Amino acid sequence: MKTISVYHRPDSLDEAVLLLERPGVTTTLIAGGTTLNTVALPPKTEVVDIQDVVTATAARQGDRVVYGAMLRLADLIAADETPPLLAELAKREGPNTLRNAATIGGTVAEGDSESELLSGLLVHDARVSISGHDDPIPLPELFADWSLLDRSVILSVSVAIGGETASARTGRTPADTSIVAAAGRVVGGGLNVAVSGVAATPILVDPSDLSTLQPPADFRGSSEYRREIAEVLVTRVVAQLGGAS
Ligand SMILES: Cc1cc2nc3c(=O)[nH]c(=O)nc-3n(C[C@H](O)[C@H](O)[C@H](O)COP(=O)(O)OP(=O)(O)OC[C@H]3O[C@@H](n4cnc5c(N)ncnc54)[C@H](O)[C@@H]3O)c2cc1C
Repeated sequence: MKTISVYHRPDSLDEAVLLLERPGVTTTLIAGGTTLNTVALPPKTEVVDIQDVVTATAARQGDRVVYGAMLRLADLIAADETPPLLAELAKREGPNTLRNAATIGGTVAEGDSESELLSGLLVHDARVSISGHDDPIPLPELFADWSLLDRSVILSVSVAIGGETASARTGRTPADTSIVAAAGRVVGGGLNVAVSGVAATPILVDPSDLSTLQPPADFRGSSEYRREIAEVLVTRVVAQLGGAS
């Protein structure tokens, strides 16, 4: 974070948003800082620390769980309210040192293609509350239009609870970040399946139509390899869920 010129720690959301809205000033939010500590920021970036502005709670509201965006992944895993699939997939987000700092809001804002937790959020019908927007935004809509986050703060992420769930993954080693992973949830006769590692962000997929995927390639696997593995993993997840479709 060598290029940070000013550090702000606002007391209120209004103050945070005013800091973000200043014309001509390059500003970025900081939550857990796990990504920001590793990336090169533009020169003279000002950071706005939102730890006093955004909650870090986990609370049941009807048939959903609402997570304050500052909730650390370690606390999400420990929360009684957290659906088992999300606790399991959050454990795969880096080592515990990272999970003790990284937040659910930062994870959503990063939209990491290979994040298994984001696939879990997708199948749990995640909705994201963002400052300046009256209604929560379904996670797939945010992933399709990052401008929704311009000069805005993620306040909370809510997920639907219940349903039968399953997951499958492949990586170079069991402990390594997955190359491709799939998660599924059956609820009320409907099936949600999401795949990570095959697009710019994790995505919801139609299990019967994976041939159109165009995964990015890297040294761990070609596009064709990732598409084929996605088909295998989705088939396994659907089978674990009793073949529902
Ligand atoms: C060693 C290592 C391993 C990692 N492994 C994984 C992994 O397995 N899976 C994975 O998904 N990621 C991984 N990451 C990336 C990163 O740790 C995660 O995406 C993390 O969850 C980000 O959360 P944070 O709170 O630390 O975000 P920060 O680093 O504080 O911020 C990240 C971005 O999100 C924005 N942001 C943060 N909070 C908000 C908010 N409330 N509203 C709007 N924007 C916000 C920031 O402005 C910034 O652009 C890894 C990183 C490292 C260094």
